[in-house]
Amino acid sequence: MKLPNYAYFQGKIVPYSDAKIGVMTHSLNYGTAVFGGVRAYWNEQEEELFVFRPFDHYRRFINSMKMMVMDPQLDEQGLVDITVELLQKEGLRQDMYLRPLAYKADEIIGVKLHDLTTEITMFSVPFDRYVTNDTGAHVTFSSWRRLDDNMVPARGKISGAYANTAFIKTDAVRAGFDEALVLDQAGHVSEGSAENVFMVRDGRLITPPVTDNILEGITRRTIIELAREELGIEVLERSIDRTEVYISDEFFMTGTAAAVMAITKVDHRQIGDGQMGPIASQLREIYDDVVRGRNDKYRHWNQPVFEKVAVKS
Ligand code: PMP
Repeated sequence: MKLPNYAYFQGKIVPYSDAKIGVMTHSLNYGTAVFGGVRAYWNEQEEELFVFRPFDHYRRFINSMKMMVMDPQLDEQGLVDITVELLQKEGLRQDMYLRPLAYKADEIIGVKLHDLTTEITMFSVPFDRYVTNDTGAHVTFSSWRRLDDNMVPARGKISGAYANTAFIKTDAVRAGFDEALVLDQAGHVSEGSAENVFMVRDGRLITPPVTDNILEGITRRTIIELAREELGIEVLERSIDRTEVYISDEFFMTGTAAAVMAITKVDHRQIGDGQMGPIASQLREIYDDVVRGRNDKYRHWNQPVFEKVAVKS
């Protein structure tokens, strides 16, 4: 992957090569960092880059920091300002992925959360597709379980918790699958490795509730709203059993990186008629318009990047 040219580091934007930390850094040793995953979408017609729902991403980021006993230092607006400045400076006119990261920066030995210094960093990279097969993916139920709220909070994006995600993803991919589904400790379907999940049964859209050890996805929230508003579909948030997935009419995953990813086979069992279903397919299209700022109704979710540069020059 090509490295970024710039990063926000220790309070300012610096060349990426200057954004370095020591090997003793607490978060590198103990996973005591939290992060976000934000996307910016290029709109060809308007020649503008739009960051999608940055305020919602940063609210979750700040909440993750609170869970990890970190002083947020910046509010949502402060983080959005850095985002816009960083993307302007990077200057790329294409789809981008943005990574805010808050980490325990002290170079000390000792596992704890308190009395440590927090630093915030941010960088962006060009981004195209996260999964190659996102219209007919084959997934497996992972033999790993999703982290529980009483182990490492699943609703926080805590770096150490992503070792769980890595086990899940690697075993699925090495076994020849595109992605994995993960059960929580109670045996309910929680999510994908880094995506929330939706099932269609009898014309209704069903997704696990926030109390089933899911990450509270911004894409999930977006899809719930678009399904209700644009398709007029009833959406239920309730626990999902494993075998409900097998007999569902449609199944798909959502995430900032994956967008809306249709699952057509689970553990060699065909879902619906084995093709991407009508609800997933409509939601994919609506979602793509919304994230690129092509739907006025949801334009408040699109943060323009270059607008300010144009005004200045
Ligand atoms: N679950 C996990 C574990 C994730 O890492 C992600 C990606 N952030 C998601 C779900 C989807 O969340 P979002 O839609 O906010 O990207």
